[in-house]
Amino acid sequence: MAFALHGLPVSHGIAIGYAHLVSHATLEVSHFLIPAKKVEAEVARFDEALAEVRGELAGLKAAAAAGAPSEVGAFVDMHMMILSDPMLTDGPRELIRTRRCNAEWALVQEMESLVAQFDQIEDAYLRERKQDVVQVVERVIKVLMGHPGVTPPKRKEGGVIVVAHDLSPADTIHFKQNQIAGFVTDLGGATSHTAIVARGMSIPAVVGLHHVRHLVRDDDLLIIDGTRGVVIIGPDERMLDEYRLRKSELELERFKLKRLKSAPSQTLDGEHVSLLANIELPEDVHQARQAGAEGVGLFRTEFVFMNRDDMPTEDEQYEAYRSVVQAMKGRPVTIRTLDIGADKTLRGASRIEPNPALGLRAIRYCMAEPKMFLCQLRAILRASVHGPIRLLLPMLAHAHEADYALTALSQAKEQLRVKGHKWDPHLEVGGMIEIPAAVLALNVFLKRLDFLSIGTNDLIQYTLAIDRADEAVAHLYDPLHPAVLRLIAQTVSSAKRVGIPVSICGEMAGEPVFTRMLLGLGLRQLSMQPAQILEVKQEVLRCDVGDAAMKVVRMLRSDEPERVRECLERINGHSG
Ligand code: PEP
Ligand code: MG
Repeated sequence: MAFALHGLPVSHGIAIGYAHLVSHATLEVSHFLIPAKKVEAEVARFDEALAEVRGELAGLKAAAAAGAPSEVGAFVDMHMMILSDPMLTDGPRELIRTRRCNAEWALVQEMESLVAQFDQIEDAYLRERKQDVVQVVERVIKVLMGHPGVTPPKRKEGGVIVVAHDLSPADTIHFKQNQIAGFVTDLGGATSHTAIVARGMSIPAVVGLHHVRHLVRDDDLLIIDGTRGVVIIGPDERMLDEYRLRKSELELERFKLKRLKSAPSQTLDGEHVSLLANIELPEDVHQARQAGAEGVGLFRTEFVFMNRDDMPTEDEQYEAYRSVVQAMKGRPVTIRTLDIGADKTLRGASRIEPNPALGLRAIRYCMAEPKMFLCQLRAILRASVHGPIRLLLPMLAHAHEADYALTALSQAKEQLRVKGHKWDPHLEVGGMIEIPAAVLALNVFLKRLDFLSIGTNDLIQYTLAIDRADEAVAHLYDPLHPAVLRLIAQTVSSAKRVGIPVSICGEMAGEPVFTRMLLGLGLRQLSMQPAQILEVKQEVLRCDVGDAAMKVVRMLRSDEPERVRECLERINGHSG
């Protein structure tokens, strides 16, 4: 019998497909039975994978001794210990032999039961060690997948819908390489980076469903309505027909929007609005170009650092940044320096943070790892000879953070000069405004920087004190909270007063419902997921900025949520 679950709609559209249960997305493994006569060969395959990972870890240990970043070195011994523990290795052998599970499936089952035991531990440090168990298992799975044994049975036709308890942004970015129709998770907030990546891929997603992973079985037929936040499990023919129709209507609407690609992005009263793209990986630049982006307003470089055991070298980074700049053919590319931390973690990061969103994140992390920061700055500078690059510093709150970054940039230039490399001498440096303190003390940044970019995802998180990745407080995540609107307005007006350009690159910029309001607030540069650009352009074309600005003034005076929402409706021309 069909039933529906309701969660947070984080990426629009309809997906129809078969459930693929995932314990942890990087552990996206097949589940199948091994023929009785191949069981011992499967156990041997498992043991060989363990041995290979032991070798990998020994290699990492040697690299750590030779001066790899401290974060990488610290976890190796712990992982060696976990890998040798019979608690992790005996169980899967037993499962292969007695239940004939394939090795990957057996290992993931054992991991889940271990992780559940860790959850019961009172000591926070020991409890967090479960992450290490997961990481060790990931390594073994990766090796097993590289040496497949019995071929898994063929999947049914239709899209694959990933069903998981939780997905990290690093997990989700994997999906860019694998065709999936959509995903649903128990946990997650609307502006978590996992949700952002889903929007970037234009795949429907619903998060914060609480129990979906327990209620769905592998290969169940599912419908995801990513616009309304609904997941239907086991739909009947009538429901399927209804959603197929809605899906094709949405596809038609998207297709029609393509006509706007070459239309100038101009309001009814003739104001030009720059629509820029947010990208996570260099290859996303093609989507940005297809959508007609005027440039890249935010390149989240941390994704280049994820899903690997080491840091990308200067040359690797240079190649990544150069490829984006060249693909944009003279259009500006805003490269944000590493914003690791909070929900975006590097593999092997072993430090337990009591409160990651308030911890060693973004510029703070870069200041703690100066070698790595200089390496990234050199790579960005070198890429700047291939086209216009703007450098963006994340999460500024203190004047000294901007000073530190500017000094590091001079140092990086000096290092390049010694080596005979060139860079763009006009490269501009800007800062993300995403902490309320930065808005309230904006002058220090206006004096030091060439441009600003408002990151509303974090600005909302830090203003309202709610974790953007936690579905339990997702209902409190309110872009229309008067405090948030006033912080945006204050940033725009202070920057305008001194002639410093200011853009917006949080998810609000890609929500058509906010476009006219943002223009009314004085913004003229909006950066968003490429898939949102044409929908937002449609709103730009319908907007009379003079009218929107007048209505926004009234909106900024309102404290009552109801009034603020009425004002938004008026700005969007729905009443009054
Ligand atoms: C933001 O905080 O709004 C932003 C654009 O940065 P990120 O989502 O990567 O934190
Ligand atoms: Mg941010």
